Parts: sequence; structure tokens; C-alpha cells
Amino acid sequence: MRIAIYPGSFDPITNGHVDIMRRGSKLFDKLYIVLSKNVSKKGTFTLEERTQFVRCAVADLDNVEVIVAEKELTVDFAKSVGATVILRGLRAATDFEYEFSMAMMNAKLDPEIETVFLTADNGHMYLSSSMVKEVAKFSGDVSSFVPGCVADALKAKFGD
Ligand code: ADP
Repeated sequence: MRIAIYPGSFDPITNGHVDIMRRGSKLFDKLYIVLSKNVSKKGTFTLEERTQFVRCAVADLDNVEVIVAEKELTVDFAKSVGATVILRGLRAATDFEYEFSMAMMNAKLDPEIETVFLTADNGHMYLSSSMVKEVAKFSGDVSSFVPGCVADALKAKFGD
């Protein structure tokens, strides 16, 4: 059984994340989406809200489960659910340094766990949670960038 985790802050989940989740769900028998507090990023939505958004976005994927890990190293969390792979998405070159250093660190912490990258879909290459929030703050239409439940929540949060 091939088990992977896809960790992230998903603040909030975008269609770029959803694409990685859908493609990942085909590559692995079981995929855990792991939400955590990113200690270096100030969250816009609470962990509960973010978890709920991810659940609504992947409700149709039978082998995908959404879970919260509050204070644990990613590799330790992977081990605790029997995962041997950490799945991450790679967009433009800007992601590379951060993702590469994190993959190196995780490999040092636990050489048994591999980080696997899926390249972003062409149409999602420049899509990020922070960009979507900027657009929503200025009342822009974000409906083509995020799942419906997220578009509603962004409107409720930033709409006037
Ligand atoms: P983190 O705070 O852990 O970086 P993010 O929610 O920002 O969490 O991102 C989680 C993962 O999803 C990262 O590997 C990131 O590169 C990837 N990702 C973010 N946006 C996209 C996108 N538009 N297309 C593909 N992958 C993406």
C-alpha cells in the first residue's frame, strides 16, 4: 500500500492545490492532506476553517483524508500514518529554493521518507493563496481560482 502525505498551510486552498491533490490521489493508494500551522506565516483563516475548505474541495476523492497536525515534524507525522512519501507542488522557479531546502532537511531527518514533487499545471503556475487574498481584498472575482466554498468565505471575510 503506497501512502503519501501532502502537507501545507492551505490558507486558503486554491485550485492549484486541488489539482495536486487530484493528481496525487491517482498516484497513491492513500493520500493524507495534512494541515498545519506554518510557524513563519501569519494565518488568515483558522486551522478549522482551512480544514473545512479542504474537506469540501476533495469530498469526492475516496482515498483522500484531511487531517490536522499541530505540533509535529512532518517526517514524524508521515511515519505515524505509515506514509513513505511527502508530496509537494512546484510552481515557478520561486518555489524551488524553499522546497529544495525543505526536502533536503526532511531527508536528513528521516532518509526513509521521500519527497515527491508534482509540477504545477500551466494554468496554476502563478496561483497562490496570498495572491487570491489580495484580489479578494479589492473585491475582485476569485471564483476561477478557488473552490466555491472558499470563494464564498473570501467574500464574507473581505467583501464590504
Ligand atoms: P506551505 O506553507 O507549507 O508552503 P502552501 O499551502 O503555501 O503551504 O503550499 C503547499 C504546497 O502546495 C507547496 O508545495 C506549494 O508549492 C504547493 N502549491 C501552492 N500553490 C500551488 C499551485 N498553484 N500549483 C501547484 N502547487 C502549489
